[in-house]
Amino acid sequence: MTQRRTSRREFLKSAGAVSTSAVLLSAPALTQAAPRVAVVGGGFAGASCARALKIIDPGIKVTLVEANRTFTACPFSNGVIAGLRELSAQQFTYDKLVAHNIVLAASMANAIDPQARLISLADGSRLGYDRLVLAPGIDFRWGALPGYTEAAVDAMPHAWKAGEQTLLLRRQLQAMDDGGTVVIAAPANPFRCPPGPYERASLIAHYLKNNKPRSKLIILDAKDSFSKQRLFQAAWQELYPGMIEWIPLSQGGKVASVDPASKTLVTDFDSYKAAVANVIPPQKAGHIAEVAGVADRTGWCPINPVTFESTLVSRIHVLGDAIIAGGMPKSAFAANAQAKVCAAAVAKLLAGTEPSEAKLINTCYSLAAPDYGISIAGVYHPVNGVLTEIEGSGGLSPVDAPRATRAQEAIFADAWYRTITDEIFG
Ligand SMILES: Cc1cc2nc3c(=O)[nH]c(=O)nc-3n(C[C@H](O)[C@H](O)[C@H](O)COP(=O)(O)OP(=O)(O)OC[C@H]3O[C@@H](n4cnc5c(N)ncnc54)[C@H](O)[C@@H]3O)c2cc1C
Repeated sequence: MTQRRTSRREFLKSAGAVSTSAVLLSAPALTQAAPRVAVVGGGFAGASCARALKIIDPGIKVTLVEANRTFTACPFSNGVIAGLRELSAQQFTYDKLVAHNIVLAASMANAIDPQARLISLADGSRLGYDRLVLAPGIDFRWGALPGYTEAAVDAMPHAWKAGEQTLLLRRQLQAMDDGGTVVIAAPANPFRCPPGPYERASLIAHYLKNNKPRSKLIILDAKDSFSKQRLFQAAWQELYPGMIEWIPLSQGGKVASVDPASKTLVTDFDSYKAAVANVIPPQKAGHIAEVAGVADRTGWCPINPVTFESTLVSRIHVLGDAIIAGGMPKSAFAANAQAKVCAAAVAKLLAGTEPSEAKLINTCYSLAAPDYGISIAGVYHPVNGVLTEIEGSGGLSPVDAPRATRAQEAIFADAWYRTITDEIFG
């Protein structure tokens, strides 16, 4: 960078070669402004990155721009839908981040000027940066599924951003008569949380089995295979025999249109009238990515996997669900891992040193029932500019494991959630 500012650590390190008086004499360096990093999006990627930046170099001025005062986490929100936990267990404030000297700009970022390095906020203020980290999560491709408009979400909730939608889907299930059909429409890849629709189907089936046992659940899928498929299907057979029907793409599972008024989902072969319809629509990077010019024609953001800097716009780094992450899934675990690598790279770039390549871990836990956990894990590294799974690094829960192992994995899943949310927001 051309206008590099000296970090406190770097300054003191370089000062080690000279006498104390010389250090004091060179004090003007201390009066230079601290480097400024703005982070847009206070979710698993952005809040984690802000936190890591302050740990790596407290001299960096970190401003977190987040539209909501309370963050509502998606992991474990399927449990809220199934009545197993309350939404409050998903909610976190930014108080601790502020206590760690992160400046909170509680506003929506509306526009970004990469030349001037300025962010325009919805509250009318503008924020300058030396490096910008964008971590806006996902937005929906309104119009990609005919009939599924922004107005349709009241009748057919997506519940793919946690909050009011999560509670709405829960209320609809509670209000449904025994014997009703729940339909989940699952999107094609890539999308947020690949095992999420199937965990949701499992936990809704758990609710139905205990409360409305004559009911049925159909998954209409726009693909022919899904994450942890054998494990989920074995669990369904064991826990909910005859209750869940999965209709893949090749058997006409792709939903072509919906009619919210009659809660009907139409495929090329059939139409399904639901008592409760959960439509998980096609997705793209959060809107601000498009505005900033870091999303490509796929709707997602290409990045350099060493620094997470956009390959389209310099000095803007992108993280989490918004990016094209090669083999890495769009998960909170992955977002958190990427955030730390990005923070280290940004600190190095600000200090004028070379970022180093890192390995990133991901583990996705899912619950097929409250005491029945399964997982998939992988380790990734950059290969020719793409995050690629290291051969032989991955792991999957064994298909024939005893119930005690499943119960233990459910405990691990809970421990993971508590640890990650405590690390970021606690
Ligand atoms: C039902 C479900 C279950 C899941 N379960 C798991 C799980 O068990 N394990 C797991 O690892 N992952 C899970 N996930 C996936 C996980 O939630 C996401 O991968 C993760 O939230 C991605 O983090 P992110 O920071 O990219 O996005 P988010 O966490 O969504 O954060 C984005 C933030 O950016 C803010 N924002 C967006 N645009 C702007 C703007 N212009 N200005 C200001 N702020 C803005 C938003 O308000 C939001 O707070 C699940 C997802 C779902 C839907």
